[in-house]
Amino acid sequence: MRLLLVADLHYSLPQFDWVLDMASDFDVVVMAGDHLDIGSLVDGRAQSVVVRKYFSRLRARTRLLICSGNHDLDSKNEAGEKVAKWLGTAQNEGVLSDGESFVLDETLFTICPWWDGPIARAGIAAQLAEAAARRTKQWIWIHHAPPDKSPISWGGSRYFGDVELREWIDQYRPEIVLSGHVHQSPFIADGSWVDRIGPTWVFNAGQQLGTLPTHIIIDTDAGEALWFSSAGNQCVRLGNALTRPVPRLDALPDWLKVADRPHFPGQA
Ligand SMILES: [Zn+2]
Ligand SMILES: [Zn+2]
Repeated sequence: MRLLLVADLHYSLPQFDWVLDMASDFDVVVMAGDHLDIGSLVDGRAQSVVVRKYFSRLRARTRLLICSGNHDLDSKNEAGEKVAKWLGTAQNEGVLSDGESFVLDETLFTICPWWDGPIARAGIAAQLAEAAARRTKQWIWIHHAPPDKSPISWGGSRYFGDVELREWIDQYRPEIVLSGHVHQSPFIADGSWVDRIGPTWVFNAGQQLGTLPTHIIIDTDAGEALWFSSAGNQCVRLGNALTRPVPRLDALPDWLKVADRPHFPGQA
């Protein structure tokens, strides 16, 4: 299974266009939250209309998994906690979203919403407990905020990660967790796009300006994860221990050299 992870596109339409162009090369495309930009001059509702059109076009080309980030919250639940109603499955037919789990090739995906208070947080705890009961060979979580106290949540002066997520990872030890949220982590000293918590691989692609979003490609058959960014490309082998500095990716692996795309846009 080949997976593309992006997050924090923040209404960058050229970056949405890039994901759309790439989508058919992947079994699964994960967009891990902050689809919108609350700082934008474009009204949030207008942004969500445009982004939902991208979701619809993406799901015509691949399996699309999305979760909410803190920039995506448009309404409140009964407890007054902010939620991303517009990202719900009812509003995005065929797109897997917050609160859902899904199995592909013996891999169980669990998509967690952004949590703004105790009700939503308890919902995630219940969701993980329920999904754990039908765990398959490999369990992948999608959760916008990365785990706390990890290089992938390092902001330069402190961590911006999720304490609860870190505890859930310790409890369930999933194989992989896909995040975003802390834009600068991969680009700064002591930060990274990848970490290991016990047996769990955790990822945050980061965020960059321009037409090409920073992104991570994971091939579970090849057992590799590759990070592409304007600051360079790196790779890890999922079957090996994590070493730092993380090795540079100097050449594309054979499995990524698809015939119709000899010059992969992520290549340096
Ligand atoms: Zn963001
Ligand atoms: Zn965020």
